Amino acid sequence: MTIAKAFLKKNRKKRLEQGHPWVFPGEIEKIEGNPQGGDVIHIVNHVGHFLAQGFYNPLSQLIIRVITYSNEVEVDQNLFLQKIEQAWKRRQWLVPDATSCRVVHGEADFLPGLIIDKYEDVLVVQILSLGVEIRRQWVYDALTQIFNPRGIYERSDVPVRRLEGLQEREGFVDKPFDTKVTVSENGLRILVDVAEGQKTGYFFDQRENRAALKPLMTGWGARHGIKVEGDTLPVDAKGKTVKNPFWDGAEVLDCFSHTGSFMLHSCLYGAKKVTCVDISEKAVEMAKGNALLNGFLHRTEFMAANAFDYLREQVNEKKSWDIVILDPPAFAKNRQSIEGAIRGYKEINLQGMKLVRNGGILVTASCSYHLSAARFLSMLQEAAADAHKVLRLIEFRRAGIDHPVLLGSEETDYLKFAIFEVFNR
Ligand code: SAH
Repeated sequence: MTIAKAFLKKNRKKRLEQGHPWVFPGEIEKIEGNPQGGDVIHIVNHVGHFLAQGFYNPLSQLIIRVITYSNEVEVDQNLFLQKIEQAWKRRQWLVPDATSCRVVHGEADFLPGLIIDKYEDVLVVQILSLGVEIRRQWVYDALTQIFNPRGIYERSDVPVRRLEGLQEREGFVDKPFDTKVTVSENGLRILVDVAEGQKTGYFFDQRENRAALKPLMTGWGARHGIKVEGDTLPVDAKGKTVKNPFWDGAEVLDCFSHTGSFMLHSCLYGAKKVTCVDISEKAVEMAKGNALLNGFLHRTEFMAANAFDYLREQVNEKKSWDIVILDPPAFAKNRQSIEGAIRGYKEINLQGMKLVRNGGILVTASCSYHLSAARFLSMLQEAAADAHKVLRLIEFRRAGIDHPVLLGSEETDYLKFAIFEVFNR
């Protein structure tokens, strides 16, 4: 069978040559051959010079997605096995505790539209492209061969699949198994349900960001008016002895808490008290379970509430915290919704920073790739101006090491995470 060829236009931006892994319909001059949706196609420039092989999908705006830059390899089951093996080796090399992590991150691992997360002995697969969809048995076979897992669960239950002409699908790939898994992260135990949780159950992309909270969680006692003199026990402003061993810890508000991973790290690193807020009762139950599992229940409290309302109410009631953490879901699902999304981000950040005591900390994230890092920071600047606050950056971070970024593909660089000191103005 001859492989079809897509000739790209002469006058186009040389994105493919710069490492961008997609071809859009408007970039194609002509197609030679009669490719069917999901077939492998050769991408060539206007004079027929080979550029890459990709998966063809005429129904998608991503009409071709690059699978290899070589014209010598055959896109077969063995190539899938090799690519997944390479991605796994990279994690074992770079991720300190690779027993649970993202193993394959789509395009950035040269497997377009394929996500694989490993939760101890369980694997979760998400398929977002037609090319991988019709070859998914190759993925399952490779995973069985490499990992011999207790089970594989598919979480292709995301609306973006429609853009590829695919229905949503979710469930056990083979035999059913218990979908609750306890993963360990930075010494904590975190119970995750790969069937019920958000996305594939947990967010590995913030592992390093959660660890970055460590130095922030202590050093607050003096600001709370607690004094230590010599070898005596600490005393509060009224001269009373302080018995709480976490007297030097921060009071933390963790909004959009989901599994409670930020709350757990806050407690691990010495927080005095953490308030978790999530709109989903199930998420609140999960976070509570994780607090219990790690012995933090007495330092935590939980609210099932809409964070937009909750933040505003707390501002009205003149409540305040040492540290406010905002880790919302992606408000911008596409380019069209970006302006509305920015209003949403600005609102929670504005209210969030009002709740931070003078000199305290705002920890804020966005996982919408439609919102650039520059726009994220300018949105925060606008919020700070409106809230009469001055922000001083401690750290600006991205996704963790198991979520690689292709320099030519801004879509792979989606996560923004900033830690600020907040001052009154
Ligand atoms: N910080 C979390 C991940 C956040 S995922 C963790 O460490 O696991 C986003 C969470 O926001 C979800 O749990 C979802 O239920 C919650 N959410 C979505 N909209 C919300 C809203 N308006 N108010 C409060 N929580 C919301």
